[in-house]
Amino acid sequence: MNAHVTVNGNAIKSTAPDTAGACNAPVVTFERGQREVFCGLTSIVWLHRKIQDAFFLVVGSRTCAHLVQSAAGVMIFAEPRFATAIIDERDLAGLADIDDELDRVVTRLLDRRPEIKLLFLVGSCPSEVIKLDLKRAAQRLSKIHTPKVRILNYSGSGIETTFTQGEDACLATLAAELPATATNAPPSLLVVGALPDVVEDQFRRLFEDLGIGPVAFLPARTANQQPAVGPDTRFLLAQPFLGDTARALENRGGKRIEAPFPFGEEGTTLWLEAAARVWNVPDDRFQRVTAPRRERARRAVERHRERLGGRSIFFFPDSQLEPPLARFLARELGMVVIEIGTPYLNRQHLDQELALLPHGTSIVEGQDVEAQIDRCRAARPDIVVCGLGLANPLEAEGLTTKWSIELLFSPVHGYEQAGDLAELFARPLDRRARLEV
Ligand code: SF4
Repeated sequence: MNAHVTVNGNAIKSTAPDTAGACNAPVVTFERGQREVFCGLTSIVWLHRKIQDAFFLVVGSRTCAHLVQSAAGVMIFAEPRFATAIIDERDLAGLADIDDELDRVVTRLLDRRPEIKLLFLVGSCPSEVIKLDLKRAAQRLSKIHTPKVRILNYSGSGIETTFTQGEDACLATLAAELPATATNAPPSLLVVGALPDVVEDQFRRLFEDLGIGPVAFLPARTANQQPAVGPDTRFLLAQPFLGDTARALENRGGKRIEAPFPFGEEGTTLWLEAAARVWNVPDDRFQRVTAPRRERARRAVERHRERLGGRSIFFFPDSQLEPPLARFLARELGMVVIEIGTPYLNRQHLDQELALLPHGTSIVEGQDVEAQIDRCRAARPDIVVCGLGLANPLEAEGLTTKWSIELLFSPVHGYEQAGDLAELFARPLDRRARLEV
């Protein structure tokens, strides 16, 4: 189904997902204008917790240093595993000097911190950094420090990106460097996306109970546990924002298993089912393993239905988690989705999610923040999901907000977290109710 819509005054073509069927297709429009999102450096906050012997060295400006430091402020008393090498205007005088300086900083760091086994040089968007060839720097430094430390690079730049793309860029780099599986290796499952350890353990048990495996996770918890990949690898994405990573794995021969994302009882079941089909898991075994967990998840979600059912929700584009979250909130909690803003819509990966959205759901890809604020004000939704920069002004106007970044910091995937995920949306309403007493 194609439709014409108006964006910023211009008629452009809108596409709807092929699989959604003609009349159930959500209405997708594009907006281009001022954006209001964090940059990819933000993802260092959860990535450094996941890969326990990795260090993230941002090559950036003072602004980058402030962002990383304040986003990860809670770690200030621990031995940090991220830092910023500040490149300022003065350094433009000689790029060769910057290379030398970077080499000195890295060598000093690795001498002081022998526990680091994987070092990421993370690029940023200031013009003086863009001129640096961090890929070459990583190769140069690898020659010096391999095999003790692997050195890779990726960009966390804020140009044309959103904060979850930092994880995508990091994992795409890792995926390209993974060891190859042995010839004639048995089919294996790779779960892709940085999940909290507790969630990873739950999924590992589930796959084991279903007889699916061997199973590995990307990223692994340490540098030397990173999985192998090859033509026998089938991979399941745990996050909807991993387009580059999926491409990198496909370049290595891996094949993506199409599935919705494991949010809520329904999403988790469909996600597991997709892998179960590939592994020919008998239906009775699938039911036996999942039924008690599904029931627990349903009961946990049900507790929040009274609070959230019938309430309206508006998503500003931020994390790229918006479509699967909207699907969960609409289908399992009966919420009314007014608008799903999302920075990018990877139709290939979100095909099945879009087909599950309520009829006629409005999806806006990209952002024109002023226009979106106007629509949000006019709709007066019960909850607005948005970035930190918009939350306070909207709260001041009497709207109830939820920070989308919290959904990346909290365990929200799988059956055991379904109730917690619902609670994350119920909490702002409770807070507002308490304030109004
Ligand atoms: S990478 Fe760019 S957007 Fe991000 S903190 Fe640095 S200067 Fe700002």
